[in-house]
Amino acid sequence: MTPNTTELLKVWEQGAGQPIPIRALLLMRSVVPEQDGEALAHWNIGQRDRLLLNLRDALFGPEVHCLTDCTNCGEPIELDFRIDDIRVPHGESGRAYHAAVEGYEVRFRLPDSTDLLALDGGQPAQAERQLLARCVLYAWTKDCDVEAATLPDAVLTAVSRKMGEADPQAEVLLEVSCPACSSVSPAPFDIVSHLWTELDAWARRMLREVHTLATVYGWSEAAVLRMNPVRRRAYLDLVGG
Ligand SMILES: [Zn+2]
Repeated sequence: MTPNTTELLKVWEQGAGQPIPIRALLLMRSVVPEQDGEALAHWNIGQRDRLLLNLRDALFGPEVHCLTDCTNCGEPIELDFRIDDIRVPHGESGRAYHAAVEGYEVRFRLPDSTDLLALDGGQPAQAERQLLARCVLYAWTKDCDVEAATLPDAVLTAVSRKMGEADPQAEVLLEVSCPACSSVSPAPFDIVSHLWTELDAWARRMLREVHTLATVYGWSEAAVLRMNPVRRRAYLDLVGG
């Protein structure tokens, strides 16, 4: 279901100052309130992001406009695409995957929100290793068990690649060509940050509208928010808001 105005404002308020994975969970909860938070936290990242792409489509439409910087010359580049362009398959939650590399065998699962929340915010490379190690169910070489944290980098890199193949929706890369220097480079698109920025702008606009109508007509916040958007817009036009 698509959350209504009051529910969305509540999500915005609860997510203020919270880390990105918590904001993602609040948004998910507003779409599938029948699922408990614990279960949603175990959705893999591709599954989570697919739900948020659908939510973005329902709330703000299928067209996306955003800005990125050229990785070669630093020039800002405008990007326009459709949500449909970046919908790709996502992995299955609760499933184990397998990688074999350099004599090591690894059983692993896909990362979920609990893994992102468990990261302690160190260097990106360290965080990546920590995340991958958390997702290793067991690893062995020559019939000996190996602790996930002691796996060689090459093995964890192979696990990371396999995760990407198993859950393509978890990392959306846009192909960006720079009009200034003509270089073509991939730019990651993070639906959680993007949607939150849009939600923030929308919420501030809603509160401005409430402020204007409450000041002029003395209506309560709840009454203004309950109002059909067309009628609200008509009143705002009357008062020049
Ligand atoms: Zn450039």
